[in-house]
Amino acid sequence: MLKLFTGDSFKKRCRTVPKKDVELLHIDKLLKAQIKEKFNSSLKLYIVDSGSCSGCEMEIQTLFNPFYNLSALGIEVVYESKHADLLVLTGLVTENMYVELRQIYEDLNESKYLITLGDCPAFQAPFHDTFAIRTKGSSYFTPTHHIAGCPPTPKEILRGLVRFMKKV
Ligand code: SF4
Repeated sequence: MLKLFTGDSFKKRCRTVPKKDVELLHIDKLLKAQIKEKFNSSLKLYIVDSGSCSGCEMEIQTLFNPFYNLSALGIEVVYESKHADLLVLTGLVTENMYVELRQIYEDLNESKYLITLGDCPAFQAPFHDTFAIRTKGSSYFTPTHHIAGCPPTPKEILRGLVRFMKKV
């Protein structure tokens, strides 16, 4: 068993980053150019989970791994909404998150760019009304762009970012 994880072929596989396909390379190029032009080479995301199953967050995290490497395009996550260029909202709006979320939205800069990510903020899917859920986020905020999926794949999120860039 130990040999399985210490053998040469395992080490080689661990060191090898797979190559991006043509579409991903094209997306990288587009995003990098648009971020440079519209956000001075640095797009700061503030990500809010307003009551998700964590599926969407896992897909977002994947985008910062060495393969997708969003940081290399100038995209970073910030931890203060007032420092953010873009709010990314996942999940439903729960009763507990509602007040906090209103405040976060108010604290955004005046452009108030918002991406709703996943089916939860737009359609409340796959959840039904319960005592803990207020409603879908898009009832309170008008998103600049919505990225559909439950959850959307990393590639779908990237395609969504490209479309968002065309709107700003
Ligand atoms: S859209 Fe789907 S994956 Fe994303 S938070 Fe909602 S239930 Fe989870």
